[in-house]
Amino acid sequence: MGPSVLVTGGAGYIGSHTCKRLRECGLIPVTLDNLERGHSWAVKWGPLVRGDLEDYHLLVEVMRRYQVRAVLHFAAYAYVGESVSDPRRYMRLNVIAGLNVLDAMIEVGVKDIVLSSTCATYGIPEKIPMTEDLPQRPVNPYGESKLYLERALEWYGRAYGIRWIALRYFNAAGADPEGELGEDHDPETHLIPLAIRAALGLSPHLSIFGTDYPTPDGTAIRDYIHVTDLAEAHVLALHHLERGGKSMGLNLGTGRGHSVREVIRAVEEVASCPVPVKEEGRRPGDPSVLVADPSLAKRVLGWEPRFLELREIIRTAFSWHKKRAELSGK
Ligand code: UDP
Repeated sequence: MGPSVLVTGGAGYIGSHTCKRLRECGLIPVTLDNLERGHSWAVKWGPLVRGDLEDYHLLVEVMRRYQVRAVLHFAAYAYVGESVSDPRRYMRLNVIAGLNVLDAMIEVGVKDIVLSSTCATYGIPEKIPMTEDLPQRPVNPYGESKLYLERALEWYGRAYGIRWIALRYFNAAGADPEGELGEDHDPETHLIPLAIRAALGLSPHLSIFGTDYPTPDGTAIRDYIHVTDLAEAHVLALHHLERGGKSMGLNLGTGRGHSVREVIRAVEEVASCPVPVKEEGRRPGDPSVLVADPSLAKRVLGWEPRFLELREIIRTAFSWHKKRAELSGK
């Protein structure tokens, strides 16, 4: 058996894809997940411990039992809209339970952590593409909660020798190219799966939130990054920390922006059928353009995203959703 790493939220979308990659690299991912939003079927590459991050003693016990050498911390709530209407939920899990994870690491003597962070920590960016030196001024509780944890890492690094990488994801998308994993949120709020559902006739239409943005076609622009490219970055971040590399935040995107209408066109091409749409007002808290400058992550980690074409990303997501729809007979 190879060395173990603790993966909080390993039953979730990005966590489960990362577990697969960890195993391919000879590490044993030990998933800690309460399965509130994750799925037990997605935990295939290492043990699953079902439990809450609020349970400090469980955290310590699991770290000791599996002698984990590092932590990948995914477990968090991640819906911007929900964070605005229910910020307590976000502060409680993302911040308080997140701090529990750090406390347990300090108690057990685990030094290295890779944190799932987000471009939402920047708020409305001053420039595009976005570099890591932009001010972090979140405009919603989700981004704020992740920033709190990043700030804690900074201070805990100095005081307790915690070594960390905060990976600031742009828009995670796509599915395992081998078809073993994919995105399965309930409720689903993300553009690509919702557009695919509409194309497959599983929903009456896709809502376009905002057609009056200051962009060429009036719809918001995002940087869609494939989930297996994100998974790879986590493994590289662990190696970086093991080598004694510097603690820091890194942006993970392709560096290419696509509007909502471009995404819809790409889904229509991949699905070979139209996506019925309904134009609606803007969704509160949505910036008009978010595109990463991924050059620091490339330089520091040697990371090179493999999926640069939006259609290729969508193709993997489409196969996953189509297979799921066929299996469930919908
Ligand atoms: N969006 C949309 N209709 C939907 C869901 C999303 O027009 O049903 C837009 C949303 O306003 C944003 C972009 O698609 O501009 C990406 O949204 P998503 O929820 O996928 O990711 P987020 O950027 O919120 O993390």
